[in-house]
Amino acid sequence: MSNILLVGYGMSGVSVFNFLQSKGNNVLVYDDYKNEEIPNKVNTIDWNDIDYVVKSPSIHIMHHNIHPIIKGAIENNKEIYSTFDIFKLYNPNAKIIGITGTNGKSTTTSLVYSIMKKAGLSVQMGGNIGIPYNDLESSEYYVFEMSSYEISSSKMLDFFIGALLNIEPDHLEWHGSFENYIASKQTLLNNSKFKVISYEDKYTIDKYNDNTLTVSIGNNNQASYYIKEKLLMCNNDIILDLSNVKHLIGSHNYQNIMFAYAICKSLNIDDNIITNTINNFEPLPHRMNIVRKRNNILFVNDSKGTNPGSSARALDTFMGYKIFWLVGGRSKKVDPLPYISKYLDSIQKVYLFGESVNEFSRTFKGIKDYITFKTMEDALKKAYSDASNETGTSVVLLSPMCASFDQFQSFEHRGNVFVELVKSL
Ligand code: ADP
Repeated sequence: MSNILLVGYGMSGVSVFNFLQSKGNNVLVYDDYKNEEIPNKVNTIDWNDIDYVVKSPSIHIMHHNIHPIIKGAIENNKEIYSTFDIFKLYNPNAKIIGITGTNGKSTTTSLVYSIMKKAGLSVQMGGNIGIPYNDLESSEYYVFEMSSYEISSSKMLDFFIGALLNIEPDHLEWHGSFENYIASKQTLLNNSKFKVISYEDKYTIDKYNDNTLTVSIGNNNQASYYIKEKLLMCNNDIILDLSNVKHLIGSHNYQNIMFAYAICKSLNIDDNIITNTINNFEPLPHRMNIVRKRNNILFVNDSKGTNPGSSARALDTFMGYKIFWLVGGRSKKVDPLPYISKYLDSIQKVYLFGESVNEFSRTFKGIKDYITFKTMEDALKKAYSDASNETGTSVVLLSPMCASFDQFQSFEHRGNVFVELVKSL
């Protein structure tokens, strides 16, 4: 039995608390928010009583912004583990496939999981995708979506296959710099037996050779897998005709598909199982889902478009349409113009809402017509009314380039509100 201090009692914290208690440990909980329902809550810590610390993913550990309790743990020579570490401590032989990247993690993770399940493998899916590691049943394989926070916080990273999809600036406040963020993503690869990386990832491509597959979204036949027109190729062989993929729209999904293909091929899964599952895979909600078509207007929910890089993919998918673009929330403090300037002709107007209204007003001033609102609801109503006056196909697109926490509980909450509002128009 150990005396453990758990810092942070959100979804991952609750899960690891229940797990560690069920293993006979005594877990004390520290959380900055005064919630009387937290069990074993402590406000001050006697470090003599603590054997080690477990932290929730978002608790700050970097020097520029370290959480005072984490600082106290370091000063008192206590080991600090992540929730992933606890999973690994209790499942030392788990074969883990770790998937990270700025964008596409959840889609690729769930696609790999679906293919492995279809192939009859014993597999569980979890991590940043919303299913805590320590809630999972035991199985031979695990497919984990790994956030940069969790990677930076873990000591026991050990993956059978590690995949790094792409790197674009995101979460810079937490990491302190883009360099730290890149290093965090590559730490996953440094702890992976087999690796899958992107041929276009300039930060990573030259660093890894051994046991490494490369995936190119361009027509680069030096890569292990590449795209030629709409065909997924390997050497000069056609592997999959991407025009048969029914539901995963947008060229960014080619990258997710290729990574899933490379991972599952490394596991020796039959080609037919892989391609059939890809062809019929239904995308996760809030990722570029067409919610409604009304007359000539498409309403698209891309609430998970939470940084300029991901929203650029949504704009790319609808390039050529008239785009009425809803943007706003808690800003990621990344200049969006380098990402979106090539789509300015398609964007008719930008409808800004939420906390970042002033910041983005400065961004779009003199560049694109924009209009500001307090709420997403008002922004949507105006975008709809403007789109109704257009001929040709229009898209009212929620791809906000921002986190949701200024006005919503989560990106799912924001997306669900959008869907309900669209239905009621
Ligand atoms: P993550 O889990 O990394 O946030 P998701 O699979 O949930 O990624 O997709 C989030 C959003 O990112 C999607 O709605 C889409 O706009 C964009 N996106 C998805 N895959 C990619 C990719 N491979 N490259 C760039 N953007 C992507």
